[in-house]
Amino acid sequence: MSEMRRVTAICNGTVVDHIPSGKALQVMQMLGVNVGRSNPISLVMNVPSGKVGRKDVLKIEDRELTQSELDRLALIAPNASVAIIRNYSVAEKREIELGKELVNIARCSFWNCITQNDREPLPHKLRVVSSEPLEVRCAYCGRAQDMEELAGSVI
Ligand SMILES: [Zn+2]
Repeated sequence: MSEMRRVTAICNGTVVDHIPSGKALQVMQMLGVNVGRSNPISLVMNVPSGKVGRKDVLKIEDRELTQSELDRLALIAPNASVAIIRNYSVAEKREIELGKELVNIARCSFWNCITQNDREPLPHKLRVVSSEPLEVRCAYCGRAQDMEELAGSVI
């Protein structure tokens, strides 16, 4: 019960729960949520959780994340659960969906890929080859992407 209170005690905003432990900062990167913006953010890390052992929880106040923002999380926290909070209660629950193709979400991490050439602007396309284990390849050069790097190369 005390855990639920900690998670839901914001007035309006978005709660991303069941983030794999230690991944919350990557989740923030993926969402383009950063301390330079004005929204208050609370981060709870290493909370004991029956479901995944330990988890991180991220709360973003006064911002409702859209489905396309949330789908970015499929890359690093595919089993996270998301709740939209309005007036201190859960107004909506959202599922994170891993699409077949990620367009303009992150750039290919290989320096000699055609997408790195600014004179030939192409949409950044990554294909999801397999979801478990997660495997993502560049649609142009076909190279497999490293998830850690991908989180750092979000557009
Ligand atoms: Zn590439």
